Amino acid sequence: MPQRHYRCKEETAFISTPATTVLTHLLPDATTLRLEACEVDATTAQLTLRVLSTQAAALCPLCTTPAQHIHSHYERTLADLPWAAYRVRLQLRVRKWFCRNRHCRRRVFTERLPTVAAPWARRTLRLAQRLVAVGLALGGKAGVHLSQQLALAVSRNTLLRLLRKLPLPALPTPRVLGVDDFALRKRHTYGTILVDLERRQPVALLPERTAAPVAQWLREHPGVEVIARDRASAYAEGARQGAPAATQVADRFHLLQNLREALDQVFLTHAKTLDAVNDLVHQQPVVLSDGVVAVPVPPHDIPLPAQQRAAQRQARRRELHTQVWALHRQGWTAPAIAQQVGVSLRTVQRDLQSAAFAGRKRRSDLGDSGLNPYKRYLLARWNAGCHTAMRLCRELRQRGYGGSYGVVAAYARRLRQAQGLPAGHRRPRQSLPAVAEPVCQPLTPRRATWLVLRRAAKRTEAEAQQLTQLHTQSAEVAEAIDLAQDFATLVRQRQPTQLDPWLTRATTSTLEALRRFATGLYEDYAAVKAGVTLPWSTSPVEGHINRLKMLKRQMFGRARLDLLSRRFVLAPRERQAQATCPREPAQAHPEAAAAEPETGRGIAAHAPGVPPRRRGLREGTAGRGSIIRTDVV
Ligand SMILES: [Zn+2]
Repeated sequence: MPQRHYRCKEETAFISTPATTVLTHLLPDATTLRLEACEVDATTAQLTLRVLSTQAAALCPLCTTPAQHIHSHYERTLADLPWAAYRVRLQLRVRKWFCRNRHCRRRVFTERLPTVAAPWARRTLRLAQRLVAVGLALGGKAGVHLSQQLALAVSRNTLLRLLRKLPLPALPTPRVLGVDDFALRKRHTYGTILVDLERRQPVALLPERTAAPVAQWLREHPGVEVIARDRASAYAEGARQGAPAATQVADRFHLLQNLREALDQVFLTHAKTLDAVNDLVHQQPVVLSDGVVAVPVPPHDIPLPAQQRAAQRQARRRELHTQVWALHRQGWTAPAIAQQVGVSLRTVQRDLQSAAFAGRKRRSDLGDSGLNPYKRYLLARWNAGCHTAMRLCRELRQRGYGGSYGVVAAYARRLRQAQGLPAGHRRPRQSLPAVAEPVCQPLTPRRATWLVLRRAAKRTEAEAQQLTQLHTQSAEVAEAIDLAQDFATLVRQRQPTQLDPWLTRATTSTLEALRRFATGLYEDYAAVKAGVTLPWSTSPVEGHINRLKMLKRQMFGRARLDLLSRRFVLAPRERQAQATCPREPAQAHPEAAAAEPETGRGIAAHAPGVPPRRRGLREGTAGRGSIIRTDVV
């Protein structure tokens, strides 16, 4: 009770402010407006406020001379921020004034209220600002949905028009600039994204991913000292034209990505080595966690007709590959070859990546099956003595298995084969060895590449063993593995002194793919050397590209560059201003000069007629099936 008494006393003091004074405080600018009357329309949920301008004098908008003589009065209607669930309309009575300055062209002008609303606007400044904030955060359609919840009546087009009218901020020119490309429409329209790597803030979006817009932007913004970019020749050229004095840095992730592509190529041409390792995996006994030694499940055997069909396809592809290279050596262009041979341009480009026929590309889902999640249970039941496929299938169905009986039966056949039982055999007399899946997944070229480049500390024991087996299978593959691992180490640990010896080794190696990779590095030598010397990389750019993709998709892919630029550059500003933390700024610069050496060349090498590949695998991510495409779109 004493508490309630205390509250009453407080409230008595509080309600002594007159209601009209409270209302006045809610006006957009109480110093220039006076509330005359207000009207509530409960059926339409609208408040109409009649307000007067109280400015004693007004400045002519042309000559800024103060005017004293009133010409006439008129009324403006402005939408304002809602009060609770009520929309608010201001009926604002303003004046027209005479300008008495003889040298001014303007005779009569309308009163400006810069703190309330823009001239000719139909909404107050603060309402417009709130709509802009909603539009920047959500775009058109989602913005309208939220605005309706907030009692802000606005259409999608109005919201977008407000965004388009926003001026782009004049940002300080970054000292360290990250450049990368993004897709406005994948495979059709691309743009370029610029990010300040020290502040980690977006700077601009440019049309196209060619040299010209980048060069022009750099000329308009002198002062960029370091440019981190991918290996595409366009950005190297753009940077050279626009900021010849700047140090170009080839991004380390993109370097490793190019290495991966070269290594993939090596494994594609050494498919037999991978097969040999896979066979080994299926021959080794598996030691289970309880110490029991189990026989491995044999590989899925492909029926003979399918094998024959595959061999025929292979022969046909080999013949086409020979034709493509024969024409290429005669000087034909890739599109002309495609037309002549009757294959797609993409196939021709892929063939031209290697003079040696790469062989059949394996199915990327090798080993994936709907049965996989249930194999553990199935093997446990099998080892416990249940050898009836139908019964096993029934039990799996109860646990959620949605596949067919045939898949379970085929797997049961492989289990019987592992234990040396005749087909259809159900009740063995002697005790049988346990069966288990091999610990390692079968190697595909991509998985082999992943295994080679995986950091040693992260490899499991089984993976390390698989890698050793791969290493001992063939001298060429061993050379490729050593070269690739050494390059990955020198890039990851930034060892510029190791670069030249490595390049010498690679250019004299027996592997065509790695020789070509090394030639490409020579052609972009200065940037590559800077890449393995300086701390800068384009990884913050990748983060911004992900955000840009979110914005793009939120607007259903229909936003053009002007709208995207505004949402991209303006939206996060406030938050980022607090989070600004230049990264390793002090050490970057002196080294930059040291790393700007010997050659002035800088065009990334690509296979003849092959466009630069622009998406790839993120460093250190997992292998088959779980490779993350950073999707530099
Ligand atoms: Zn004037």
